[in-house]
Amino acid sequence: MTNTTQSTPLTAAQVQRIMKSVDDHFDAQLKFTQDLIRYPSLRGQEHTAQDFLYEAMRKRGFSMDRWRIDEADICSHPGFGPVTVSYENAFNVVGTYRPGEQKGRSLILNGHIDVVPTGPEKMWSRSPWDPAIVEGWLYGRGAADMKAGLVANLFAYDALRAIGYAPAAPIYFQSVVEEECTGNGALAALLRGYKADAVIIPEPEENMLVRANVGVLWFKVRVQGHPTHTREMANGFNAIDAAYATIEALRGIEAKWNSQHHCHRHFEDLDHPINFNIGKIEGGDWPSTVPPWCEFDVRAAIYPGTTADEARAEIEACLRNAVSDPRLGGSEPEVTFTGFYAEGYVLEEGSDAENTLRDCHRHAFENELQSFTTPGYLDARVFVIYGEMPTLVYGPKSLDIHGFDERVHIESLRMITKSIALFIAQWCGITEDS
Ligand code: ZN
Repeated sequence: MTNTTQSTPLTAAQVQRIMKSVDDHFDAQLKFTQDLIRYPSLRGQEHTAQDFLYEAMRKRGFSMDRWRIDEADICSHPGFGPVTVSYENAFNVVGTYRPGEQKGRSLILNGHIDVVPTGPEKMWSRSPWDPAIVEGWLYGRGAADMKAGLVANLFAYDALRAIGYAPAAPIYFQSVVEEECTGNGALAALLRGYKADAVIIPEPEENMLVRANVGVLWFKVRVQGHPTHTREMANGFNAIDAAYATIEALRGIEAKWNSQHHCHRHFEDLDHPINFNIGKIEGGDWPSTVPPWCEFDVRAAIYPGTTADEARAEIEACLRNAVSDPRLGGSEPEVTFTGFYAEGYVLEEGSDAENTLRDCHRHAFENELQSFTTPGYLDARVFVIYGEMPTLVYGPKSLDIHGFDERVHIESLRMITKSIALFIAQWCGITEDS
């Protein structure tokens, strides 16, 4: 890494050339994004989409690295999230561009390939894997979160090369898995040794820069019942009823943490930044048997500065204390941590990377870059907390991510791509092909 070089301001003519080049290749960029959306890269099935990106990067002449995430390599790291699935198909892909001679600062362009489940497909206007463009929006599961951004990273680079500009520092194009469940893909990339002077992650962030976000924990709670025939229901104990009581206890922590939002920098203006989502529930075996068990899955959020261990201790204590509620029938709920075990982060203001992005955004959008706090998980926490790299989460406008008819705004994507292309040129420096 070379921290000594300052950003080289681009000339007005260079800025215009770069932005025009993005425009010239934008149809190809959209087509490529559509191709990528057609791969249903749900958890456990990311490998075919990763192969597609691997090939696209290889054709650009990058030196290629593809590896399967191995739990053993990362499980002792404090940012590791427990794994409950097979990693048989969990491959990260990194393509590295290296200049002939390094003059500028290096850059990681990161994105995640994994997408969340679609829910009932009949609730979509069309198949989630049919990447239609309708009235200025590109549809599909993962269109916004975040295949559009992942592809923008590549095409921003292409726009420079097409006009004879060669970035003057290494660029690492990362496509990682596991962003939607553990963050272990980004963690594996960091622990494999990838570091740079700045990171950009074009998540769907409404053309804004993320200033702070929450950490996230996933856990499963199991409550026990006592099964009886329903004719003697009063002699049994209903685990599903007990689950409701347990959820109520957890809502107590959620309310308490939300009431503390004034004490957390960047969270003062958010009324309810801490969301506990009961994302899955199942229990019981038979309609005429009092249910002997019930399990539910929780996604909980924590403020930056709270460690996952601290949050875990409070959650476990809450569940222990819940036993005093007679609706739990005297048996303590069991809790297992099943995924994210992640702290939140704050992007410190005024870094050179942020100032550079501010310039680039102004050129692309003709307005000032806004920053905001998001109450969702981001892989940036890996790079900020453990890699100590300035990490800019900044990407296009979207609607209904994780919902039905997810979509990304096309003109916004075009501007974001311009901004990233300008950032590469300014941050890494450029040499012009003779
Ligand atoms: Zn995402």
